[in-house]
Amino acid sequence: MPDEHTDPSCLFCRIVRGEIPATIIASNAHALAFRDLHPRAPTHVLVIPREHVASLAAATDGAMLGSVLLLAAEVARIEGLAEAGYRVVSNVGADGGQTVPHLHVHVMGGRAMQWPPG
Ligand code: AMP
Ligand code: ZN
Repeated sequence: MPDEHTDPSCLFCRIVRGEIPATIIASNAHALAFRDLHPRAPTHVLVIPREHVASLAAATDGAMLGSVLLLAAEVARIEGLAEAGYRVVSNVGADGGQTVPHLHVHVMGGRAMQWPPG
């Protein structure tokens, strides 16, 4: 990947580069899926683009976003969530509760989710 598409100090870019361990469960050309370090549901997986994009607010590449969402649905199938259902959510910025500034969607399932998330 070209240097301008990766951030040396970004936690999730470091996972993409293999510098920080993660339990990777699926990937495609544009995206990577790995287990959340602090799961908030029986199944809690993060899906991220391979390239550094700070959040959904900074995204411009529809193909990349499509790949992230398609991988999220594949993760749900792999994890056996597809029939019962699951939650896909992306926190954006301070009020959204985003703590890692590299675009990611949470795939959560294995129990009934609450709405609204609060
Ligand atoms: P958010 O708060 O929406 O930005 O989500 C960031 C998520 O990344 C949180 O659910 C964290 O538990 C998770 N997380 C932080 N560091 C790691 C890591 N090294 N490996 C896997 N998940 C992580
Ligand atoms: Zn990054």
